[in-house]
Amino acid sequence: MRVYLDNNATTLVDPQVTACMEPFQTQVYGNPNSLHAFGSESHIDLNNAMEKIYAGIHAPKSDSIIITSCATESNNWVLKSIYFDYIMSGRKDHIIISEVEHPSIIAGARFLEKLGVKVTYLPINSEGIVTAQSVRDNITPKTALVSVMWANNETGAIFPVEEIGEICKEHDVLFHTDAVQAIGKIPVDVQSLNVDYLTFSAHKFHGPKGVGALYMKKGKELTPLLHGGEHMAGLRSGTLNVAGIIGMGKAMELAIDCLDFEMPDVEELRDKLEDALLKIKDTFVVTPREKRTRNTMLISFRGVEGESMLWDLNKAGIGASTGSACASVDLEANPVMEAIGADDDLAHTAIRFSLSRFTTEEEIDYTIGVVHEAVERLRGISSSYAYTPKNHESAL
Ligand code: PLP
Repeated sequence: MRVYLDNNATTLVDPQVTACMEPFQTQVYGNPNSLHAFGSESHIDLNNAMEKIYAGIHAPKSDSIIITSCATESNNWVLKSIYFDYIMSGRKDHIIISEVEHPSIIAGARFLEKLGVKVTYLPINSEGIVTAQSVRDNITPKTALVSVMWANNETGAIFPVEEIGEICKEHDVLFHTDAVQAIGKIPVDVQSLNVDYLTFSAHKFHGPKGVGALYMKKGKELTPLLHGGEHMAGLRSGTLNVAGIIGMGKAMELAIDCLDFEMPDVEELRDKLEDALLKIKDTFVVTPREKRTRNTMLISFRGVEGESMLWDLNKAGIGASTGSACASVDLEANPVMEAIGADDDLAHTAIRFSLSRFTTEEEIDYTIGVVHEAVERLRGISSSYAYTPKNHESAL
């Protein structure tokens, strides 16, 4: 059996999405910026797709959604634009991000540090959450931007973006949120909070790879990262990824429909898996269920090296993730586990299971059996587990 439980990394393209993209690869292939019929024949479908994308995040027509190649581009764009527009001019010199942002924010912030920008990295609390109070405590008159993700890719922890947005508004600070892991899992309504910029990416919600977007509230600015033609009102040049945009539109429409219908089932399966795995002794899950996205679980089995567990799972046909980078010589601890203060033993044992609306009960039952066997086998050969009989409470 093959079981895909790494849906926070990427998702299966929904067959309905593939079907609606196909004509734009093979028949309607003109450049939409061309003046002839080959170019213009995609315009109606492109407009319809953009309408679905706007509707998906409840963006009013007066705001902008600029299509990019991925969330990494959108995240980099916000940081670099803030540098050009606010920091280089000397108006401000400080940004705030959390220490568990995606590498496309963390690495972007480190790059800005080299240019002289001051960066505050907010910690997470013991539940894996960035508090609004920590944002308030760190804003200064020189703060140009706060960038805090909506939902964390490792734990699924949902961050208090409404409160953070309010604090930013009070202090006249721009607010960006990386909503990559929120779209299709929880309702995302840009009008319900004070957000200036918001990032998302189609391949995380059963759309195609290579297409993402950056939402920008009316009246805000962005200096283009890619200069060239007049695509996307001159804000993001490059020939439009027509099939990708059409696919993202369809994927967004389906993702929103699924919030009420399939997502409760996904949650039920996630909970079934979690309940069964928590029966294993010395096992620990980060972030309470009600504070997480409905498809995600980051779980640690004391004494079981994450990479070894992945190996056993992979051999049994199951795809999951450790969230840590496996370098050639060192095995790195999971960054979120480290950030919540888990001891070294536990930080190396985290495994992320992320489900989707395509996950079946049969797959979950199979996974439960495989994980139980793997934990038993790996603990049986683990010297550290035998000699450190701690329980999970003492780990934090
Ligand atoms: N932000 C978050 C929270 C993510 O989980 C990811 C992908 O893992 C990204 C950004 C980057 O997305 P993309 O692959 O579209 O660049």
